[in-house]
Amino acid sequence: EEGEGVGGDGEGIVNWSGTHACTPVKLHEPETLEELEALVKKCHEQGRKLRPVGNALSPNGIALSDHEMVSLAMMDKVLAVNKRKRQVTVQPGCSVGRLCGELRKRGLVLENLASIAEQQVGGFLQIGAHGTGAAIPPVEMQVVEMKVMTPGEGLVTVRRDEDPETFRMLQCGLGMFGVVCEATIQCVRAHKLLEHTFTLSKDQIQKQHADLIKKHKHVRYHWIPYTDDVVVTTCDDYTLWNRL
Ligand SMILES: Cc1cc2nc3c(=O)[nH]c(=O)nc-3n(C[C@H](O)[C@H](O)[C@H](O)COP(=O)(O)OP(=O)(O)OC[C@H]3O[C@@H](n4cnc5c(N)ncnc54)[C@H](O)[C@@H]3O)c2cc1C
Repeated sequence: EEGEGVGGDGEGIVNWSGTHACTPVKLHEPETLEELEALVKKCHEQGRKLRPVGNALSPNGIALSDHEMVSLAMMDKVLAVNKRKRQVTVQPGCSVGRLCGELRKRGLVLENLASIAEQQVGGFLQIGAHGTGAAIPPVEMQVVEMKVMTPGEGLVTVRRDEDPETFRMLQCGLGMFGVVCEATIQCVRAHKLLEHTFTLSKDQIQKQHADLIKKHKHVRYHWIPYTDDVVVTTCDDYTLWNRL
């Protein structure tokens, strides 16, 4: 749930699929940048291990640790929307769903989305989430600026256009380089998609796959086990499709 974090302080934490669990010594939930800075600094000085966690949804339990963990669930504000540049600046504790709701009010949307929207923006960006769409880059490619609280250097601000090499290292950092505490994301205009669902055989998919992913903005396959049938779902820009 929004702002409620994932448990902790001697309580066990289990990931969404129930495949990984941990019992952190302590789960920190800073409410301000200053609190986060003091925490990361102290842990670094005292050699204490600290793992950032989002909503602990990852099926591989990548965020879980029996040492200390830090959740930004209390740092979840949408800080600014620049309608002209179509960019949003957000604190990583915000859920993807709530961010999309705020963007929709301003006629904007994230360019790429996963099949769920319960992730925290921090977890969503740091693992490079993606939906379908062969020509749509994964979400970390839409980040233009990040503020990262690092153990050694304190608060670091990196911009893709100013320091592309450092940015590339941090943009999909799996929480290994520090705690992302702010991100500015390039959005696109909100648009409607038209969905078509049909079935093909596995053979037909093999023959048509290259064409399908070229022709459609989004293509999704659901193979029905023990059958030869594959449910194909395509999505295309409604306004463009209407003009064909
Ligand atoms: C049912 C289901 C469907 C899914 N569908 C898709 C899909 O369609 N496409 C897709 O790409 N993924 C999908 N996922 C995976 C999901 O997008 C990722 O696991 C995502 O990381 C979960 O976000 P989270 O907030 O729970 O992050 P967590 O699992 O808590 O953390 C993920 C990683 O991010 C790091 N992290 C989190 N917050 C921060 C921060 N503030 N600073 C630095 N590092 C941080 C953690 O250390 C960890 O390495 C799905 C997951 C589920 C359970």
